[in-house]
Amino acid sequence: MTDEAAPPEVDHESELPRDHPRYQSLLTRHRIEEGVEKGITSTQGLIAEGRGEAFDYLLGEETLPSADAAARAAAAHLLLAEHPVLSVNGNVAALVPAEIVDLAEATDADIEVNLFNRTEERMGAIADHLREHGADEVKGLAADGRIPGLNHERAKVDADGIGAADVVLVPLEDGDRAESLGELGKTEIVVDLNPMSRSPRMAAVPVIDNIIRAVPNITRHARELADAPRGELERIVEGFDSEAALRDAERAIREGDLGKRDGKDQE
Ligand code: ATP
Repeated sequence: MTDEAAPPEVDHESELPRDHPRYQSLLTRHRIEEGVEKGITSTQGLIAEGRGEAFDYLLGEETLPSADAAARAAAAHLLLAEHPVLSVNGNVAALVPAEIVDLAEATDADIEVNLFNRTEERMGAIADHLREHGADEVKGLAADGRIPGLNHERAKVDADGIGAADVVLVPLEDGDRAESLGELGKTEIVVDLNPMSRSPRMAAVPVIDNIIRAVPNITRHARELADAPRGELERIVEGFDSEAALRDAERAIREGDLGKRDGKDQE
């Protein structure tokens, strides 16, 4: 008679055991790889993923309390907005398609596809992928608006989407576009694992966390705050200090809680 432990639970999508110490990181890689195969994610997106993974490793692959506070401020901004828009690129679509749809529902936001390397094929593949995950309407395909100060392809937006937005969530955005959107007076919420990157430094709300954790976390806060009076939302927005959030993430990277990384060594 043996006293056998139950076999580890396996994720059906990736066939990875859920109790693997690096489960989340391996699942992320699996989704990005699939994204490339489906024509959703560019090969440059693979490089961005690698850079993100390195920062996540340094952050202990956990949401810092300061990143959670940023997620709450992000939710308050989205709920207060007249016209919030969630911008989606190839990595975001591959990693969190259903979670973006949930966040759009929780905050009554539009979803717009916006690509650094824009091709009509990839735009279409991403829009289809988001619809397969429950999106009703996906913007970005009309491309009848322009962000001034950027070259032609990267400047394209929908006039009634990002063009008309007052608050924009731009995860994993490149620094130039983040800067140009900021100059247009839009409030930017940036999700990025690198607190030294230009985009989070430009943002009203930098969420220094993995997109895989950050988007569901913003949704959770938005649901909790759904019935909050405007005054409370405004207090959350005003009480958020972006500089302090960036500093805290840099401190966490420098000082690192090496204990947390035990058992999470690279494959
Ligand atoms: P900048 O121009 O702002 O300096 P960059 O050149 O660093 O930006 P990219 O090379 O496009 O920008 O890299 C994308 C960014 O996305 C990186 O900062 C990386 O840390 C971040 N990133 C990658 N994967 C994730 C993820 N899963 N969650 C959050 N951020 C991520």
